[in-house]
Amino acid sequence: MALAPSGNAPVFQQPIAGRLAGVGPRVAEKLAARGLVTFQDLWLHLPLRYEDRTSLTPLFALQPGQTAQVEGRVEAVERGFRYRPLLRVALGDGSPVTLTLRFFHFRAAQVAQFAIGARVRAYGTARAGQQGLEMVHPSYRLLEGEEEALQEALDPIYPAVEGVGPASLRKFVLQALAQLPEAHALELLPPDWLSDLGLPSLREALLTMHTPAPGADLAGLAAGRHPAQQRLALEELLAHHLSLQRQRLVIRRHRAHRLEAGRALAARLTEQLPFKLTGAQQRVFEEIQRDLCSGEPMLRLVQGDVGSGKTVVAAMAAMLAVGSGKQAALAAPTELLAEQHYRNLRHWLAPLGVEVAWLAGKVTGKARARALEAIANGQAQVVVGTHALMQEQVRFQDLGLAIVDEQHRFGVHQRLALRDKGRGGQWMPHQLVMTATPIPRTLAMAAYADLDVSAIDELPPGRTPVQTVALSGERRPELIERIRAACAEGRQAYWVCTLIDDSDEVIAQAAQSTYEALAAALPDTRVALVHGRMKAAEKQATMQAFKDGQVGLLVATTVIEVGVDVPNASLMIIENAERLGLSQLHQLRGRVGRGAAASTCVLLYQPPLSMMAKQRLATLRETNDGFVIAEKDLSLRGPGELLGTRQTGLASFRVADLARDAGLLPQVHALAERLLREAPERADQVIARWIGSADRYANA
Ligand code: ADP
Ligand code: MG
Repeated sequence: MALAPSGNAPVFQQPIAGRLAGVGPRVAEKLAARGLVTFQDLWLHLPLRYEDRTSLTPLFALQPGQTAQVEGRVEAVERGFRYRPLLRVALGDGSPVTLTLRFFHFRAAQVAQFAIGARVRAYGTARAGQQGLEMVHPSYRLLEGEEEALQEALDPIYPAVEGVGPASLRKFVLQALAQLPEAHALELLPPDWLSDLGLPSLREALLTMHTPAPGADLAGLAAGRHPAQQRLALEELLAHHLSLQRQRLVIRRHRAHRLEAGRALAARLTEQLPFKLTGAQQRVFEEIQRDLCSGEPMLRLVQGDVGSGKTVVAAMAAMLAVGSGKQAALAAPTELLAEQHYRNLRHWLAPLGVEVAWLAGKVTGKARARALEAIANGQAQVVVGTHALMQEQVRFQDLGLAIVDEQHRFGVHQRLALRDKGRGGQWMPHQLVMTATPIPRTLAMAAYADLDVSAIDELPPGRTPVQTVALSGERRPELIERIRAACAEGRQAYWVCTLIDDSDEVIAQAAQSTYEALAAALPDTRVALVHGRMKAAEKQATMQAFKDGQVGLLVATTVIEVGVDVPNASLMIIENAERLGLSQLHQLRGRVGRGAAASTCVLLYQPPLSMMAKQRLATLRETNDGFVIAEKDLSLRGPGELLGTRQTGLASFRVADLARDAGLLPQVHALAERLLREAPERADQVIARWIGSADRYANA
């Protein structure tokens, strides 16, 4: 089929609608809904897996668990209705073995096809059934001629597209592949680099992925380690990296106010703090100060383990802004945390005469109007709040520094929305983002090529490491005794309830009944409950009572995960710990060990444990180091969950998988540097090919 020229767009950018047989407007729409618009989109719509119909497995050789193609004659057909409709077809191939095909959904016409003696070729996974081997819902075909040829290539199985059948989709991809240009016309990476790396051309890689030859390394493909996949992942990661770098350049072209004049105010804050900054806090603050005084917009990520003291560093950065006549904003992901920040900041900053305002969803009516006005007229020098800060109606008089705490809980767009409140002409506010979920270095480089990273890698003195134990749920009575003893000594404990169910409602109910059971079991201890469905004021009052030591045991959902700071609490019990990820467990554990008392974290689990869960719990017992835990989490769970899918769009890679392909990153960085130096025009083409108009960092 000839390709109608469409302006000067290269073939890969041309829309497929009307250019592929079978793709009319209606089908094109269905494909577009799945992001398949151009030839290239189809080339990059890669199979999830492959089915091998290039050979036949004789029935006697078929093993349970094996996925195979078989052929035989119908020996018996049984149609039952006992519990639900059932169709069983016995196939024989002359060997003593019979295979049963089982169907639960079928049409009458299908039943009629299976006449005794008819020849059937089926593909499926064999399993041990009541009467020997069976295949449940295999794909099958009735054979007519005596000798039917086997397929010559593996069948690619594509991610489904709603409203387009798998066979049609396969046809469209094959047609699109027929338009694949010659290797040299398609390639963006210099061929000598590829041969140095031992990787195929893009054309060859795509052809291998869509039409692997029989005998292709299926295990390698399934594991994503085939050179064809590595080749594609490399280019995709390169595109991502280049795009982040380009965004960074765009930001660097803006100017930002030098916050030089605030140095004195920041120094005054340090002087009146009740503690001395750690070396790490001091160093990180100096890194921030250098950025804020440079005249270029800062974009810095501060990583620091739970309890490392990030808030005070943020407060000092805010003083650089305030002392220079600018406003600073601090956003936190939950009301609980935002309110705690607000209290801390007010406590630290009031003696300096700095005005701190508070804005959250629950601030309504007159209070809200007053806050909005103070923010707009500049009376509020520091503004602390939740997502509410990012809303349309919030206008700053002159926002010089936007700080986002626990930034993995926010989306990129929210961070940008806050930043844009201080944007004007060529001016850009400074940005500081903080996270207690340390991100492994490799991943940080990929996810944050546009950020500078500082680490507070030291805890304030006087903390004793938390001892971690895993206990099976059967040992609950012992545990309750332990809580009773701890509370009797004036210490405090958390009991965290978790459920897989995301619904606040269900979790709140579970927490409620745990609370009731524990309160009954501990008559001498004051037990209280916080969960996400409670009114903010109620939550706040309970937290305050816990902080003040009036409550001994706090039963909570994971709402207490971030930021809550009660140094006297020394016992943390996490129920159903096997269901949580490592980073989240580490965060929760970080709620204790904040004071001088030796602290314990009990991971309560329901046996039996899966391998993964065992490894997670073992990791937590072995280390308290958030960075080590993050590395482990990355290898166990992959980056999507670690970073939060909303974070960077990393989860929307087409081919690459950061956990699997992290080893490619050094090559990616070297390639990026070389490309920018030797063929900068190619860099834009690489970005366009992989990220294109859906540039998720547009205007970042
Ligand atoms: P995170 O890094 O987890 O956000 P916070 O900023 O909440 O940690 O600090 C945890 C606790 O440590 C707070 O009570 C804070 O006041 C205290 N803190 C911070 N820096 C120091 C320090 N240098 N010395 C002693 N305590 C500190
Ligand atoms: Mg914090």
